[in-house]
Amino acid sequence: RTAEILRANQKLIALGRLTASIVHEINNPLESITNLLYLLEVDPSSEHRQEYLELAQSELSRVVQISRQTLNFSRESAGPVPVHPSELIEEVLTLYGRKIADKQLQVEREFETAETVKVLPGEMRQVFSNLIANSIEATAPGGRLRLRLRSARNWADQGVQGLRISVADTGSGMPAEVRSRIGEPFFTTKGAQGTGLGLWVSRSILHRYGGGLQLRSSVSGAHHGTVFSVFLPTNMRPQAVVASRAASVASTPQ
Ligand code: ADP
Ligand code: MG
Repeated sequence: RTAEILRANQKLIALGRLTASIVHEINNPLESITNLLYLLEVDPSSEHRQEYLELAQSELSRVVQISRQTLNFSRESAGPVPVHPSELIEEVLTLYGRKIADKQLQVEREFETAETVKVLPGEMRQVFSNLIANSIEATAPGGRLRLRLRSARNWADQGVQGLRISVADTGSGMPAEVRSRIGEPFFTTKGAQGTGLGLWVSRSILHRYGGGLQLRSSVSGAHHGTVFSVFLPTNMRPQAVVASRAASVASTPQ
């Protein structure tokens, strides 16, 4: 009982922190939109008119970007269904087809199993979309993405059975100071182009399934690049689900 209440409390605290940082993050662009509209109102024929409008538009699209990445994953009506992760991956690759072609990236697939996982497809699509988008962004033209799907019998040495899906790229890799901040909401090295929510959201989704995200990255040598491995359990017992929920609350970034 006490443990349950404590857990619920921790969850609320984590949620409160996230809400505060989202409000903060959305407030800046909203303030600047307000200012730009004011400038246009007091001087509708200003020579900077076009500039103000463009700025307001780009601030607005940042707000939209943040709200999309934050809310999408909590909104899906239908319950979990068995899906082949490879199908979701193919959908995401189609979505990014244009960017992949523009950068002339080579895409390799190694799908070694036809096992399914029971998930909300939209959520899992979002996880793969976040990882694949990051890999595309980090990789120089002519680089390579490798997507692997295989069975995992003993994840994190806990005897949990499931699937491991990895997204590997030949991109820039992450220096230690970036690696240590992965999973912090709003941490981005992409300035206004990034939201810093992709990995945070992905990790929260995976934790709710009793799964997780692992990272290997190297910035130097012939094999620079990054590998993100998603683990999804296939034989989750109810107790294990409760335990992993607690773990996900405990590991919510402070
Ligand atoms: P965003 O992409 O909006 O910056 P993410 O949460 O998706 O936010 O990623 C956070 C940061 O992690 C990125 O800004 C980048 O520095 C780093 N990162 C993520 N994926 C990769 C990758 N595949 N290669 C190199 N760096 C990455
Ligand atoms: Mg991203």
